[in-house]
Amino acid sequence: MLQLKNLRKTYHVGDTVTHALDDVSISFRDKEFVAILGPSGSGKTTMLNIIGGLDRYDSGDLIINGKSTKNFKETDWDAYRNNSVGFVFQNYNLIPHLSIMDNVELGMDLSGVSAKERREKAEQALIKVGLKDHMHKNPNQLSGGQMQRVAIARAIANDPDILLCDEPTGALDTKTSVQIMDLIKDLSKDRLVIMVTHNPELAKKYASRIVNFKDGKILSDSDPYNGEEKADSFELKRTKMSYWNAIKLSFTNIMTKKGRTILTAFASSIGIISIAVVLSISNGFQQQINTTMSKALAQYPVAITATATDLTSGPQNTSTKIAKNNGYVTAKQDQSEQSSHNNTITEAYVNYVKKINPNYANNISYQRATNLNLLSNNNGKISRVQFSNSDPNAGQSVAQMRSQAMSSMGIGSSVFPTALNKNKHSFLKDNYHILAGTWSSKATDLVLVADNNNTVNINSLKNLGIDVKNGEKINLNKLVGKTFSIVSNNDYYQELPTGMFVPQKANKSMYNSGKKLRITAVIRPKSEDSMQLLATGIAYSDRLTQQIINENKNSAIVKAQRKSNTSVLTGQRLNKTEKKQIMQTLGGSSIPTGIMIYPNDFDSKDKVLNYLDKWNKGKSKKDKIIYTDMSSAVTTMTGGLLNGVTIILIAFAAISLITSMIMIGILTYTSVLERTKEIGVLKALGARKKDITRVFDAETFILGVFSGLLGVAIGYFLTFPINSIIYRLTDLSNVAQLNPVHALILIIISTVLTLLGGHLPARMAAKKDAAIALRSE
Ligand code: ADP
Ligand code: MG
Repeated sequence: MLQLKNLRKTYHVGDTVTHALDDVSISFRDKEFVAILGPSGSGKTTMLNIIGGLDRYDSGDLIINGKSTKNFKETDWDAYRNNSVGFVFQNYNLIPHLSIMDNVELGMDLSGVSAKERREKAEQALIKVGLKDHMHKNPNQLSGGQMQRVAIARAIANDPDILLCDEPTGALDTKTSVQIMDLIKDLSKDRLVIMVTHNPELAKKYASRIVNFKDGKILSDSDPYNGEEKADSFELKRTKMSYWNAIKLSFTNIMTKKGRTILTAFASSIGIISIAVVLSISNGFQQQINTTMSKALAQYPVAITATATDLTSGPQNTSTKIAKNNGYVTAKQDQSEQSSHNNTITEAYVNYVKKINPNYANNISYQRATNLNLLSNNNGKISRVQFSNSDPNAGQSVAQMRSQAMSSMGIGSSVFPTALNKNKHSFLKDNYHILAGTWSSKATDLVLVADNNNTVNINSLKNLGIDVKNGEKINLNKLVGKTFSIVSNNDYYQELPTGMFVPQKANKSMYNSGKKLRITAVIRPKSEDSMQLLATGIAYSDRLTQQIINENKNSAIVKAQRKSNTSVLTGQRLNKTEKKQIMQTLGGSSIPTGIMIYPNDFDSKDKVLNYLDKWNKGKSKKDKIIYTDMSSAVTTMTGGLLNGVTIILIAFAAISLITSMIMIGILTYTSVLERTKEIGVLKALGARKKDITRVFDAETFILGVFSGLLGVAIGYFLTFPINSIIYRLTDLSNVAQLNPVHALILIIISTVLTLLGGHLPARMAAKKDAAIALRSE
């Protein structure tokens, strides 16, 4: 039972006060067909809206099944509209961009009925109103009467207790009106129908009870009801629109204005496009710079050599002023001499360097003066060989050895850098590729290095015992797999009765006693940049040298040399340094003469230098190890400049993003105005404020994602012409490249910004008064 008790509703517009409902009290039976008659402006619609929960009364009470609505909260009214009331309006109020079926299902969407059940109920309702054959049409394909039938189907689909019809035949011709009245009359068998009408004849013919209205008051009632107030038997099921439904509703709406949507999305994607382009270009340049720089770093490592220039020592004379004639001249040491520093590389220092973080410098090479006692076997002919031009060999003079040690900075070392972490940058693999064979993995594996033109220094080949003439071509197969024997000091040198040592005559048994080395690959530089890294000829790993040192450190010759201050090979007197060096050539010392550290990239270089500086902290000048940063000439300025320019460009592009955001806000606001009716309908069907916000948020969400995707796509396609321009200008190919991560972030930014831009109008939409929204034309 529905009961109105002393209901009042007053509108204040300026100084005018309208008593739309002026102390209305009336009760309705659970099943009857009530017609409300009355002149225009007498408060009929107001009463209907209040009964339907679309509008609120000022005072009095509305009692539903014994429950007072005085303390109803917003959500209670929402649920009441959805569960208990069906609305039919004069102008149908169908949502034009939804299909008939979707229109009918809308209310059930809100009450969370399953898709299958929704579809069944909607079909039943449509059959009931006689639209069986028009079920799959769109609202704009129907006549007025048919549209009103759809509206009725929508109102009864959820099987409400109360059907409220506000002049349902007001826009229809007489014949159609009769049909609609028949339908409504039929529906009133199962429920309370309250119908407002202008037409007294129709009312008399169809309604079971006629109520006359005037100036917000009931004039007459043909069949008053004074039923006893029942106990509260009122129940509500809360409503909720799913995100999916909100998106569907907005998507179909957007699809009805494709042109405008595409234009807006395009306009608002311009910010995204510009950022995407700036990012992809700067990204590309950064990458180019990085590769150039790491190539440069491969050539100019951080070197720790026997002597270094200590730039920090002594004041730098930078004065260019001309001094007065004082009548004297000052004796002064040369700058370079003054700052010359002897590095004493120790075991501890070598271990410290080895602990460097492989993420900063993965490749380290050690210069060692260690002699390799090498023999080759060419068809049974055993002979001594050398691996490189400068390889110190037995019988070399101390002077030669010293120059070897001094030039240990030597790019063109035959020992290639060792990777600290095998899974990271490998010096060889980064800078060389294979002409034949496979990459070496064992300490005893050797590589033969050729240069860019596939040539190898003839002396290097001759040193290996390969008899070649200048210009002769040697098949790669002949080189890969070639073996050598490396003989321990004890087998190699013979001690004379004088206590001196001489190398023994090379013979088969000596060859057989040695450790076998094998050329596993012939390699050559990947590009011109890496040409200078290793001299042509044999290159081997430091592990080999270390094995040799381990084997020879306690050999007879090393023991003898350790005790003597003259060379056990030549008899020459040795000073302290010379003795140290000869010990190194004989493998008696594991301390390298020099260390070269290859930073992974420019940023890492600073970390490496910091690490090396840390060693010197608190050490006396003598014990300090001064390194030479060979790449210091190659500046990082370009990188920094690029970052600066990128940030400025992005900042500019970001301004257009703000513009897009405002634009989306305006568009959403327009959409809110356009969809005012729809908001009213949704509310009439039980949508909460939240749901309405959700619908418009969904619309901006779709727009945001779409304009983000569009922007990223356009940005991506722009990289092609941009690359061809850059290629023509700079010869650099494929500079502009859009990083997929950046693309994703841009889409997210676009979505978030448009959501922000559209959220305010969406909130405004939610606040719209449903009754006013439905009155609007
Ligand atoms: P009816 O449906 O009987 O034609 P209404 O219920 O629509 O009448 O209106 C009753 C009175 O309330 C009218 O005078 C109308 O102008 C006034 N009214 C209705 N809604 C509003 C509103 N939102 N603001 C001010 N006045 C209103
Ligand atoms: Mg009205």
